[in-house]
Amino acid sequence: ATPTALLVGTGRGAQLGIVIKGPEVLESTRRIDTVVLDKTGTVTTGRMTHTGTVAAAGETPADVLRYAGAVEHASEHPIGRAVAAAAGTVPPVEDFAAVSGFGAVGTVAGRRVVVGRAALLDQYGMTVPAELDGAVKQAGATGATAVLVGWDGSARGVLVVSDAVADGSAEAVEELRALGLHPVLLTGDHAAAAETVAARVGITEVHAEVLPAGKVDVVAELQRQGRVVAMVGDGVNDAAALARADLGIALGTGTDVAIEASDLTLVGGDLRSAVDAIRLSRRTLRTIR
Ligand code: ADP
Ligand code: MG
Repeated sequence: ATPTALLVGTGRGAQLGIVIKGPEVLESTRRIDTVVLDKTGTVTTGRMTHTGTVAAAGETPADVLRYAGAVEHASEHPIGRAVAAAAGTVPPVEDFAAVSGFGAVGTVAGRRVVVGRAALLDQYGMTVPAELDGAVKQAGATGATAVLVGWDGSARGVLVVSDAVADGSAEAVEELRALGLHPVLLTGDHAAAAETVAARVGITEVHAEVLPAGKVDVVAELQRQGRVVAMVGDGVNDAAALARADLGIALGTGTDVAIEASDLTLVGGDLRSAVDAIRLSRRTLRTIR
């Protein structure tokens, strides 16, 4: 590849709303056969909204939302922000801690309140009563995320939080397939929610409930199997995987850390431009070979 031809590709990229770190980036895209897509904020909009609350026996939905909202008030996670917004005015929180990939904890009115995945509640010695199982399953079946809220040794309720599949995601996946590329969905979210979103956009290979530190391992494992991997992501928890991938593509709407770790940035945050980027790189290389 001559530098001049690659620079032509870079210029065309700018026209398509794709920022390329350096012309040499395009060379690595030639043999890409697998495209790993982060779920939340990449395939989905990432704009989370709280859509419902289910309380365990002896609790009210209002209390469940109020305690959770108080904790999440200090959270920067999209789920946390959605819960805090839905809760409105809440009591103050002390000793707040975000647990990356799991949830958040804080003390509200003297109670240690845990908000997040079942594994996090378990870590705080809290059990989940069977009566909440139905709500958790139902949330997953609709592609939503079930957020457990617990205090005093037990889960007290479930908050349902969801975001929509982004416009163009299904089309982008279809275009990837048309280019002969294998799409993979990668997320820290529950398996049921992940499978539902995957089915909606036409992805069959799903890696769910992957911890933030584990995303890079999934990419590395695919590479070990001989795959050449592009990764598309937006979050802090995607950064290591984006750096590890043969081609890291960040959404321009994503976090600075993700953008810095990537080879390409999609200005508009539309997954279809990821396909444009891969197509462009192939075309650029064809003209120079
Ligand atoms: P993703 O890979 O989809 O971007 P994360 O790794 O950020 O997701 O989080 C994984 C899961 O941990 C979420 O789907 C949610 O169940 C839980 N979680 C993380 N942070 C919070 C929070 N602040 N409040 C409630 N749940 C949370
Ligand atoms: Mg994300």
